[in-house]
Amino acid sequence: MTATIIDGKAVAERLRAGLAGRVAALPFRPGLRVVRVGDDPASGVYVRNKDRAALAAGFDSATIALPADTRESDLLALIARLNADPAVDGILVQLPLPPQIRADAVIEAVDPEKDVDGFHPVNAGRLASRQPGLVPCTPKGVMHLLREAGARLPGARAVVLGRSQIVGRPMLQLLLAADCTVTVAHSRTRDLPGECRRAEILVAAVGQSELVRGDWVAEGAIVIDVGINRGPDGKLRGDVAFAEALPRAAAITPVPGGVGPMTIACLLENTLEAAIARRRLPS
Ligand code: NDP
Repeated sequence: MTATIIDGKAVAERLRAGLAGRVAALPFRPGLRVVRVGDDPASGVYVRNKDRAALAAGFDSATIALPADTRESDLLALIARLNADPAVDGILVQLPLPPQIRADAVIEAVDPEKDVDGFHPVNAGRLASRQPGLVPCTPKGVMHLLREAGARLPGARAVVLGRSQIVGRPMLQLLLAADCTVTVAHSRTRDLPGECRRAEILVAAVGQSELVRGDWVAEGAIVIDVGINRGPDGKLRGDVAFAEALPRAAAITPVPGGVGPMTIACLLENTLEAAIARRRLPS
């Protein structure tokens, strides 16, 4: 068997086109503000891509760039202004932040109704208690890809590698809500290859280049590789050894071109959802 390659770029393009159509039908342009502190080059590329995608889909999008020595109190004051601005539907503060700024304080300062990253504890709590809220973009994108790949989720054995706030934990909640039987593995898990081999759906989000070897993948599994790791040769690699997994999996995402494009598309989806909910429009 050779796996179907799940084309995240194409799925994301279709999602963005659908969002652009919905935005065009609104009597206003949903407003997104991305706040960037410092000049981390990787974040720079990512923020520019977000802006470009948002503008192309008809959003009112702008990036606010602050110097690396910005004080936490100044960033919190900016967030308070954006929270109060009726034209702003979504606020995203690009992580990581410089060491003088506490990320938790910043995440908690964003109005949960405008928290398009879905990182605020109120939104994490809503997700965990199955209430409507804003869901983190990357795991949300993974769910889109699983549906595209034709995954039969109810009852499926799903294994999530990684337990971070931004990927692993919300991924657990989304798969559980879709009636999967979910195992979350992490750096203290005893038998990582054994856990992976039981997975019908395997989501890898560890940030370790090609940690998941081909013989960790069960025949016919659907493999979603969230990892983005830049090797010494400058090439991007996932958390899964793609070439080894290809003959065993039923479907697999490539890196790049898999989950990455979905994250930005889901950010736009969240911004539209936030605008509709906040402005009390019918969805
Ligand atoms: P974190 O570093 O926050 O979390 C990594 C998780 O993996 C932790 O739970 C850690 O375990 C676990 N882990 C690390 N090493 C091992 C190991 N050797 N064996 C088992 N578990 C391990 O990373 P993120 O969740 O933020 O990101 C994960 C990856 O996804 C990164 O490559 C990141 O670049 C990528 N990413 C991609 C996005 C996209 O748009 N495609 C968006 C966000 C992230 P423990 O908790 O025990 O320390």
